[in-house]
Amino acid sequence: MIEFDHVTKKYSDGTTAVNSLTMKIKEGEFLVLIGPSGCGKTTTLKMINRLIGLTEGTISINGKKISDYNIHELRWNIGYVLQQIALFPHMTIEENISIVPELKKWKRYKVEKRVSELLEMVGLEPDKYRSRKPGELSGGQQQRVGVVRALAADPEIILMDEPFSALDPISREKLQGDLADLQKRIKKTIVFVTHDMQEALKLGSRICIMNEGEMVQLGTPEEIIQNPKNQFVRDFIGVHSEVPETPFNLEDLLRRSEQNGVSGETRTISIHANLPETLKRLSVEEVISVEKNGRKVGTINRQAVIEYMADQTKKRGQSHE
Ligand code: ATP
Repeated sequence: MIEFDHVTKKYSDGTTAVNSLTMKIKEGEFLVLIGPSGCGKTTTLKMINRLIGLTEGTISINGKKISDYNIHELRWNIGYVLQQIALFPHMTIEENISIVPELKKWKRYKVEKRVSELLEMVGLEPDKYRSRKPGELSGGQQQRVGVVRALAADPEIILMDEPFSALDPISREKLQGDLADLQKRIKKTIVFVTHDMQEALKLGSRICIMNEGEMVQLGTPEEIIQNPKNQFVRDFIGVHSEVPETPFNLEDLLRRSEQNGVSGETRTISIHANLPETLKRLSVEEVISVEKNGRKVGTINRQAVIEYMADQTKKRGQSHE
């Protein structure tokens, strides 16, 4: 879907922000770019919608080089959400959301319907909020509008640059959960920048860890937790020793799954089956029902497994120090 082929960005002052980056982002994937400040995350993101030009290499979307797209066609088909919400203060919520559909000359009734649909999607009653100005909404509500505005004209790709980092921890956690749910329903390709590892583990189907303009490791959260490639990655995820296999504690997993509330069983496994292997391979949408001697003991979801593995890995790292 999005392919980086030896992409390098050198700024005019000689800074190499991204150095020979090669990676493929799959359709419908939630890819998280993470790394320390200045490692090139935002530059990588902004090259996708040509807000920043490449110095070397190519980026292609659906097999076509981004430089061969008409710039408007490219930007309208890529939603973009920033940390600073950037809603237009003099425009109503409805007008803010309608910008790209209007540019694409959608019919009025279709735009109105879309605005209602999107506001509902993020829990804002359309009749109550559509005519308000951004200043009449809380920070978290404005951020929700910022997210759905990026979805308004049904883009194939959504780029998000630390969209929740300015929010308080409660709104942030709520919006992370909402975004994870939304992604499951709408199946867009999302490229998401953060420097928060917990956020990356929670949201990413794969995580790209960057350092000094280069990709250090690309993998699923489970792969990164279980097999950090080197000391940089271990330090980054907060582990300071080699990582042994995770022995799962069933009670703990059931409790975490209940707390994070992701539901909707997709299959059933028996405790006698190969539980650790099954758990490590859960996909984002999966919630499994666990049985012992033919009786259900509870359900486990992927988020709980990842949180559990991350905690265990950290604890082991600390006891080793
Ligand atoms: P942060 O997490 O702090 O936002 P980042 O990983 O997103 O950082 P970038 O903003 O991509 O990093 O910057 C990568 C490098 O490029 C940094 O060294 C930065 O100082 C440099 N840089 C970014 N924009 C410019 C610019 N316009 N001119 C020169 N150097 C720049």
